[in-house]
Amino acid sequence: MERSIAVIGLGYVGWVTGLCLADLGFKVIFADLDAGKVELVNQGVAPIYEPGAQEMLTKHKNAGNIKATTNTAKAVAESFVSFITVGTPSLNGEIDLRWVESAAKDIGAGIAERDDYHVVAVKSTVIPGTTEELVIPTIEATSGKVEGKDFGVCVNPEFLREGNAIRDFMNPDRIVIGYRDEKACKVIESVFSGIKSIIVKTDLRTAEMIKYANNAFLAMKISFINEIANICELFDIDVKQVAYAIGLDFRINPEFLRAGCGFGGSCLPKDLRALISAARSKNYNPVLLEAALNVNNKQPLWVVELADSVLGDLRGKKVAVLGLAFKPETDDMREAPSIKIVRALLERGAEVVVHDPKAMEKAKEIFGKAVDYAETPLNALRGADCCIIVTEWKEYAELPLSDARRVMRRPVLVDGRRIIDPAKAANAGFIYRGIGWRKVLDEFRSA
Ligand code: NAD
Repeated sequence: MERSIAVIGLGYVGWVTGLCLADLGFKVIFADLDAGKVELVNQGVAPIYEPGAQEMLTKHKNAGNIKATTNTAKAVAESFVSFITVGTPSLNGEIDLRWVESAAKDIGAGIAERDDYHVVAVKSTVIPGTTEELVIPTIEATSGKVEGKDFGVCVNPEFLREGNAIRDFMNPDRIVIGYRDEKACKVIESVFSGIKSIIVKTDLRTAEMIKYANNAFLAMKISFINEIANICELFDIDVKQVAYAIGLDFRINPEFLRAGCGFGGSCLPKDLRALISAARSKNYNPVLLEAALNVNNKQPLWVVELADSVLGDLRGKKVAVLGLAFKPETDDMREAPSIKIVRALLERGAEVVVHDPKAMEKAKEIFGKAVDYAETPLNALRGADCCIIVTEWKEYAELPLSDARRVMRRPVLVDGRRIIDPAKAANAGFIYRGIGWRKVLDEFRSA
């Protein structure tokens, strides 16, 4: 029994956390309110797409090391550690802690049934102070037990990237453990003893802040290079060369310096908003963070402008949007730039056909009948006046350009992720527009 760990919240983070903990030799009990997800796991079917996840589930389920339940209290009662991995979405810009609170209540009910020490690790991203002011008091109130004596609580933020999540979890740059009870920290350290990594130990609220500071920095880096890209276009400069050269400066590093149509997903936008809102609640105006968000709010529309600049007017034009997920190797469309792009195209009267290798089902929930759904990229391009690449899926980078050109009505290619070589596009007969790239197009066009 003491090798069992409860993972509460079967989202992207909980899913990967549980699978990796099973790989590290623990028995894992997933708990989620969503009976559909729970049933899928119990049937041995991955509820969320992530490379390598299905194989891990099959392996550990067959070995009897993974199960799922909707009864969080029972999962906690059977485990020595619980990870809170429920969502912390945005509510009018602020962090919405209702899911964390309800998970903490259920954990309290589970701890009430245990006679021995239990450790709760908060993996969800929460605003500094949340663990001390909400999680611990809630568990104490519902369990009738005392933190530091009967149970311990740590903050263990997660830094994985969807699409690369299993590798990231197993090979982290560092593991952060916030704690105020030494015994709890030792338990969480022991859980991760099979992972080679630097461990950064802090107090609870510092660990909470580290996650926000990390995401805010990455968001600023993306908005920075996007703003530079937009300026590069005005000066006939290719941002890719600029990004490459500045990325060679070890103080800057090349990661997160790819100009594109902005960041999306379940983390960077909402975490940036939550940090801005938390700072404002203390009467501080975080201008740098606000600027990063403002650049990002406008960036997806830049590709629509590029399409418009070539086609003249989008009304009645058929536009193929390739890529809907907020990044490759995931089906996650939360706050994906594609949503803003598709809506802007529709508002301007374009007829939109979309394709994504993984996110089509999610897209149908968002766009309904407002767009057409193509089964292959080439089908999306058939008869189109313009192709806009929004997500940098490998299959779009390897698009057979002459075939693409052949099936399209007009040869306009807008590369929102800079994954197509402009020279190759021009050779295939395309009019190419890319983020942070303007000058060469016209040269190619006249060539
Ligand atoms: P998600 O929205 O994909 O999933 C959350 C899950 O929690 C859902 O399945 C929901 O049904 C479940 N849930 C909600 N309340 C519950 C409760 N009381 N009991 C049991 N289950 C409950 O979330 P996610 O993307 O995995 O993110 C989880 C947390 O991790 C967030 O705080 C997020 O900011 C953070 N995070 C996410 C990522 C990422 O790449 N997605 C990376 C690092 C950190």
